[in-house]
Amino acid sequence: MSDLKTFIAGLPKAELHVHHVGSASPRIVSELAARHPGTVPADVELLRDYFTFSDFAHFIEVYLSVVDLVRTPEDIRYLTYEIARDLAQTQQVRYAELTCTPYTSVRPDLAERPAGTGHVGMAIEAYTEALEDARVAAERDFGIALRWIYDIPGEAGIPAADATLAYAVDHGPEALVGFGLGGPEVGVPRPQFERHFDAARAAGLRSLPHAGETTGPQTIWDALTVLKAERIGHGTSAAQDPALLAHLAEHRIPLEVCPSSNVATGAVATIEEHPLKTFVDAGVTVTINSDDPPMFATTLNREYEIATDLLGLDSAGIADLARAAVDVSYAPDDVKTRLRGEIDTYATP
Ligand SMILES: [Zn+2]
Repeated sequence: MSDLKTFIAGLPKAELHVHHVGSASPRIVSELAARHPGTVPADVELLRDYFTFSDFAHFIEVYLSVVDLVRTPEDIRYLTYEIARDLAQTQQVRYAELTCTPYTSVRPDLAERPAGTGHVGMAIEAYTEALEDARVAAERDFGIALRWIYDIPGEAGIPAADATLAYAVDHGPEALVGFGLGGPEVGVPRPQFERHFDAARAAGLRSLPHAGETTGPQTIWDALTVLKAERIGHGTSAAQDPALLAHLAEHRIPLEVCPSSNVATGAVATIEEHPLKTFVDAGVTVTINSDDPPMFATTLNREYEIATDLLGLDSAGIADLARAAVDVSYAPDDVKTRLRGEIDTYATP
């Protein structure tokens, strides 16, 4: 495995399921906490303890406290640029689709908070501009191409969906490729967002919802039939439904699999029980992703190592996993061609 670990560490990759704020490493959170003193420690060592979760509710609490540190366009610019640095320099990621949740930074209700009581929200125009500035700078400085997915925080319901659709369609950044849906699934049925996904698709965006992470296969069916999903975020519970697996394989709908995340949130009990191999054996296309890596104490490289164990892969199989992510990405053709070439060159003994 140590040779394969080295192979994975140097392998050029695409990352398709990773959250913007959820990618903030202790180094990045430390800087944001120093800018906005309060609940989150600015000391990197203390932050490592802070990122140790007792359960899913605690994870959400910590996640939201980090969301609360992203208050200004300059914070968005810093966060995005530094995430890109980490992806490019430590994980050899050459292309990433980053899921952003503009609603939590631009929330209209935050804009009404009196000054001095935490952040006041920012204009969507400033948010968009900061993202795009960071993208262009990161591509220039780190050689990584970024694209955006704007997701609805499902727990915030229809108002958040309305706002996110407007941010995507009326103020969409140049590099926006997809429309997503995240947050808890229990009590948040997918079909209520049908018109939002219809409108986003009509505007040329891809339908990329989370589904079947914490609820059963019906949620994935709903994502496919109602939201017209083109990839499924997680899709873990598809393993319980052979007809669904056959449908995913037949229609070439990929699953964005994030193994460590599924264990950290309790979606699967142990990594050994992860259904990744069930998906592959059923002919479903899978991609390997990291979700909220620092918060789940993982990295994209680590997720590839886990997949290597679960699937019993050699270096050629690992390279195929990396190729699959490129193939089902929404990267521009020139980026796909370049990245496929890099993987081929790297993987050829
Ligand atoms: Zn996710």
